[in-house]
Amino acid sequence: MTQIDLTLPPQTKSFLSAGSESFAPAAFHVMMKPRGAICNLDCEYCYFLSKEFMYPGSRFRMADDLLEAYTKQYIEAQRVPEVTFAWQGGEPTLMGLDFFKRAVELQQQYRKPGMTIHNALQTNGTLLDEDWCRFFHEHNFLIGLSVDGPRELHDAYRVDKGGKPTFERVMKGLHLLRRHKVEFNILTTVHAANAGHPLEVYRFLRDEAKTQFMQFIPIVERDNETGYQEGNTVTDRSVMAEQYGRFLIAIFDEWVRRDVGRIYVQIFDVALAAWTGNRPGLCIFEETCGNALAMEHNGDLFSCDHFVEPNYRLGNITEIPLIEMVASEKQRQFGLDKRDTLPQYCRACEVRFVCNGGCPKDRILTTPDGEPGLNALCAGFRLFFNHIDRPMKIMANELRYQRPPANIMRILADEELARQRQFSAAGRNDPCPCGSGRKFKQCHGARR
Ligand code: SF4
Ligand code: SF4
Repeated sequence: MTQIDLTLPPQTKSFLSAGSESFAPAAFHVMMKPRGAICNLDCEYCYFLSKEFMYPGSRFRMADDLLEAYTKQYIEAQRVPEVTFAWQGGEPTLMGLDFFKRAVELQQQYRKPGMTIHNALQTNGTLLDEDWCRFFHEHNFLIGLSVDGPRELHDAYRVDKGGKPTFERVMKGLHLLRRHKVEFNILTTVHAANAGHPLEVYRFLRDEAKTQFMQFIPIVERDNETGYQEGNTVTDRSVMAEQYGRFLIAIFDEWVRRDVGRIYVQIFDVALAAWTGNRPGLCIFEETCGNALAMEHNGDLFSCDHFVEPNYRLGNITEIPLIEMVASEKQRQFGLDKRDTLPQYCRACEVRFVCNGGCPKDRILTTPDGEPGLNALCAGFRLFFNHIDRPMKIMANELRYQRPPANIMRILADEELARQRQFSAAGRNDPCPCGSGRKFKQCHGARR
């Protein structure tokens, strides 16, 4: 399981800032898992497969009356004109196409006048065929497809139940999506196997998978038997903090010189929002969270997709209205804890405005002064966000003057040209034009 972007549009982000009379958010997301944790693959780093053990004896199929109750309540609870139904798993396509035909039918039945309904479905892509893609196209589904890079990197951990590679099947699904003009994002997890190959991954996604939209999701997998967010060690499959930072930097450096405005990488967009003085817009980098919940096949609602575990169960939709659970004190506190448990080390950090300490699920380290709650990826976030500071400021400035941020590519190219000219003109004993303070012959001139 990786996670599709369900960033809320800014006007809907009133959760947790609502008046004390009501904590009901104007809008929220529920990641619905109609087949629970059941999947046809056995990806080694998957955080969700183990959730199957929470429901012993279950058929793991969302019943029709539950689907109807959920659709009705979810629509009623939203006070915004656009609503997205998010389907996840496990593997949601294991429900079969008829389930989603029925879901769309119910959405139309309960849709409020003037309301637009979207659907986002996250899949491993291996079960897609012509019928699925026709349906997705017809109903404008946004698909999140999990691909971890070219064949050998993808197949490192993304295997089926028999341990067989899946790359071939996923690419077949991808081509079908493209042929049917279905809108899709690629979700790439960054882990021990592909973290050392950033440009190979990026160029594959851009040039061979031909996607315009990418997300790079770090694998920080707790090493324990329960599958819950417990303990403070991570598995060998997890990406190390600096490795993740360098992965993002390598891709950013290529993107900022040639792909701005045509390739969209989620974390770069999020960063630009923060550098322009807006909220980052992605829960992990927001100050507070709590408006992206998860629902199991039987109607159990949980605080977040990453906290589907007994302590974070808010109740069941057949017993408590959805909006009551979403607006509950327990859920409100879950969201506020992201800010309130932030260590002093983060509060004083120069990139806090964009990082905000990252996702609480990954806060397993102690700070240098001994406070708990530091993110396992801290060193990587800090490296990356500091590295992009100058280009982000340039792009933010372009936006301020209503010019396209893509102008950064020309600005950097001009700077590079000017630097090359200075290098060509520099004498061996001159100060190096790069500003290092060393002689040219001991710095960039040494290479010449
Ligand atoms: S716990 Fe993490 S993934 Fe879940 S809502 Fe909060 S920031 Fe987002
Ligand atoms: S970079 Fe590290 S110290 Fe700074 S806010 Fe993020 S997690 Fe905290």
